[in-house]
Amino acid sequence: MENNKEFRQWLDAMKLSHPLVIAGPCSAETEEQVMATARELQKTDTNVFRAGIWKPRTRPGQFEGVGEIGLKWLQQVKEETGMMVTTEVGNADHVEKALKHGIDILWIGARTTVNPFVVQEIADALKGVDIPVLVKNPVNPDLALWLGAVERIQTAGITQLGVIHRGFSSYNSGHYRNKPKWSLPIELKKEFPDLPIILDPSHICGRRDTLLDVSQTGLDLNFDGFMIETHIDPDNAWSDAAQQITPARLDEITKELRIRKKSSTAEEFQRKLTMHRHELDLLDANLIEMLADRMGIANQIGAIKRKENVAILQGDRWSEILNSMVETGVKSGLTKEFVETIFKAIHVESINIQQKKD
Ligand code: PEP
Ligand code: MN
Repeated sequence: MENNKEFRQWLDAMKLSHPLVIAGPCSAETEEQVMATARELQKTDTNVFRAGIWKPRTRPGQFEGVGEIGLKWLQQVKEETGMMVTTEVGNADHVEKALKHGIDILWIGARTTVNPFVVQEIADALKGVDIPVLVKNPVNPDLALWLGAVERIQTAGITQLGVIHRGFSSYNSGHYRNKPKWSLPIELKKEFPDLPIILDPSHICGRRDTLLDVSQTGLDLNFDGFMIETHIDPDNAWSDAAQQITPARLDEITKELRIRKKSSTAEEFQRKLTMHRHELDLLDANLIEMLADRMGIANQIGAIKRKENVAILQGDRWSEILNSMVETGVKSGLTKEFVETIFKAIHVESINIQQKKD
């Protein structure tokens, strides 16, 4: 995929005075819930109203969306409030129905982006259509798969493109519902500076209290906008209740976000510095997280070894790891001494952990 200035046209055409704000409920539930949420959002900085009509739920038996009737409610939001409207499409039939109802922007969900067959089906259904399409990252942290989906849509003739970063699922997500792994969107931004990137802090956080912090990071990293799940009565939402916020809270969040303008050279310098410091902070946080994961596994190995009465120190395996890490490190531009220092420290800690009694 080539970097392409056309990507940005739809966003530039809106002449926004602040990053794009896409807000609205996880799911359209009833006409009243959709309209009441939209009327409150109209009083905020929201530019685009979102609502899921077809919901890809992880397990069956949960609310799976109201279906086509919800598109009529979105049309009503558009007519009454003047906000643009967007919904998730997961197959060719969804695309056809959304287009028929005048939906302004389509998005492809994380569970769809992982499947090239389905993305291709959507791309084929979009041939000859001129509408902005936003592609969420796949649930797994695979930049090529994410870009591959964008490329399929671009090949179908869609030029108004964007991506949405909604975090990556992992067996052990810890603090986040979906880990942000910021290095991936940073990498994507470096390669495709003209591809608009929107942050979805709702699915990253999975909870309300951390939304502001994660959104501020997105802003510091120059994301072009936000998609934030907003519901008139979040506690009683039919899906993703824990992460949805009221329109009033959305308004507070968008006002609290500190926008760093790029005007003077001094400010530009400051902005670059902040961005790089953020990159370092995020990488450092990733390093800690990875070290903690590694030690967690060392702990499990320790338990197995103790059970089988196997020696904790396996000299051959350790030399193998060290040699291979030095080789990989040197290839990546690190010195042999540095890699050895780091891995010796890791090894000592692993042994200590493995020696701990149950
Ligand atoms: C959503 O936006 O409601 C949604 C289903 O998101 P994701 O595809 O990121 O899980
Ligand atoms: Mn949701």
